[in-house]
Amino acid sequence: MTSLALSALGAAAQSAKEADGGFRYTDERFADIQMLRYRVEGFDELTLRQKTFIYYLQEAALHGRDILFDQNGRYGLRLRRLFETIYTDWKGDRTSREFAALTVYLKRLWFSSGIHHHYGSEKFVPEFTPAFLRRCAAEVPAEKLPLQPGETVEALCDALEPVIFDPTVMPMRVNQKDGEDLVLTSASHYYGDGVTQAEAEAFYAAKKDPNDPCPVAHGLNSRLVRNERGALEERVWKIDGLYGPAIARIVEFLEKARPYADRPEQQQVIDRLVDFYRTGSLRTFDEYSILWLRDTESLVDFVCGFTETYGDPLGLKASWESIVNFKDLKATERTKRLSENAQWFEDNSPVDGRFKKKECKGISAKVITAAILAGDLYPSTAIGINLPNSDWVRREHGSKSVTIGNLTDAYNKAAHGNGFDEEFVADEATRRLISRYGDLCDDLHTDLHECLGHGSGRMAPGADADSLKAYGSTIEEARADLFGLYYLADKKLVELGLTPDAEAYKAQYYTYMMNGLMTQLVRIRPGAEIEEAHMRNRALIARWVYERGRDAGIVSLVRREGKTYVEIADYEALRRLFGELLAEVQRIKSEGDFEGARLLVETYGVKVDPALHDEVLRRYERLDLSPYKGFINPRYTATFDEEGRVTGVTIDYTEKYDEQMLRYSRDYNTLPDVND
Ligand code: ZN
Repeated sequence: MTSLALSALGAAAQSAKEADGGFRYTDERFADIQMLRYRVEGFDELTLRQKTFIYYLQEAALHGRDILFDQNGRYGLRLRRLFETIYTDWKGDRTSREFAALTVYLKRLWFSSGIHHHYGSEKFVPEFTPAFLRRCAAEVPAEKLPLQPGETVEALCDALEPVIFDPTVMPMRVNQKDGEDLVLTSASHYYGDGVTQAEAEAFYAAKKDPNDPCPVAHGLNSRLVRNERGALEERVWKIDGLYGPAIARIVEFLEKARPYADRPEQQQVIDRLVDFYRTGSLRTFDEYSILWLRDTESLVDFVCGFTETYGDPLGLKASWESIVNFKDLKATERTKRLSENAQWFEDNSPVDGRFKKKECKGISAKVITAAILAGDLYPSTAIGINLPNSDWVRREHGSKSVTIGNLTDAYNKAAHGNGFDEEFVADEATRRLISRYGDLCDDLHTDLHECLGHGSGRMAPGADADSLKAYGSTIEEARADLFGLYYLADKKLVELGLTPDAEAYKAQYYTYMMNGLMTQLVRIRPGAEIEEAHMRNRALIARWVYERGRDAGIVSLVRREGKTYVEIADYEALRRLFGELLAEVQRIKSEGDFEGARLLVETYGVKVDPALHDEVLRRYERLDLSPYKGFINPRYTATFDEEGRVTGVTIDYTEKYDEQMLRYSRDYNTLPDVND
């Protein structure tokens, strides 16, 4: 599970900000996106062995890139290759408006690893014409186009045109609309043609053994398709299965990395992961997860595999992602203090005693420095990660949480002084509170969310963790956020030296409510609803609390000179409301109460007030900011001796966004156009 940056709405406008000795945190903007850069603080101080380990791991990470393009839509790779060829080879008028529009489309396609918005999941609307695309395709070298055997350029355009231009074809990557067939209407490629939601649910329900205390995550690493005989079967993602060519390269580089691992325990982690990639066995995957979460000592660490299930409307199938990182030893002192006190937090939470963990096992947390982002963590990324996702593994063995320090730092540096708070925060006193405590509380909320929130609570006997279905992700994120919000205001944090005083939490309470009630709407198109799980969760929390606190004057929306502001009159009462909702959300999860989850999410997390939405969009537009951010990776270059051993690794931050994407497409090109 992941947490996403709350503060990321605001990053800086045109002016590329210079800070920290001239390092440029901001880069180009296009569509609704601003590209940022992150700095890998401390890389130069690592030993050659550690650098070599990171080098091979980041090669493994980058070799998985094509997988996600196919997972996000069956035409993803063909479309990417078509547009890239036009971008690099078309000799027509490259200053024309249509070519500029095509360029923006390609940049968005790279950013989303597909043709749907990475966050809202709706299909892009191209601002060039089908005729222009056909003309370009006809004028580039045909051998560079993703043509299938015997296919003409004309036929390629016929096949792809509706996918790009027809708003009724594959309109949503992940459709979450209550009452629709979520599998048939989602464009992501986790299910084969014509497989229905009811069939998929029945298929996986039949695989469940209610008496198995250690159930594997059925469906996690496969596409569910109908075979020639009309029966459903899984195409497993493994070295000799679907996505095999990409997986073979990932395995090759994991094996190259292995000798340089920090510790023998970490070599076992790699061995088991490689086993999983070879066999596709989900039991092996759980064994790998357990070894991985137990390895808390290694300085360098990584995730490299099928991990999060946000992209599957049924929450079963995992997108491919990778992050390579190393521990930020100083900042990790902060999260250590939380994890060492995990049992205290569990015991004192407002949750019903039946749903509390009697014994908090194996909770580890650290602050890390990201060295590379890949797959579903690139370019748009999480700022916190808590894994593994398996409920029984978490219950029996615990979990590992990370807060990604250099990414939150980059977000914060890019956001300061951009006028966002001046526009949306109600008054000067609150703005001062936010500028004083905002960054610190943001980090701490992420720590609490990942390290304690996701790890807290337990299922009621006999209840099934999957029964919340499409609402599972939103409820889980709400649970972790609420745990964090509730405890951010606790005296215990002052005692532990994590917050400087008893006022600091108010900064986070204010920005959380402002975001959930108002400002996150800048990410929603007029007339659309909230789709993404983290956004739904924030709307759900803020609105539920608002509706209960409004009449008592605890929190209100006030209007001044045509502008709406959030005002919080009683922060302590607000905390009690967060606590009440936490207890209810935990009950829903623990009991697997689907109807309770549906009601909560549909009532508070989905719909948008059109008048307020319109106002927020207009105010935001005047600030000239981009509502979404993503990161350009640094580039690593290794030097080798005659025996092929690495003698040095250098890091470079100057690569441009399009250069990086084209290089990745060239050097990490692992999968064919069509993966059936
Ligand atoms: Zn989370």
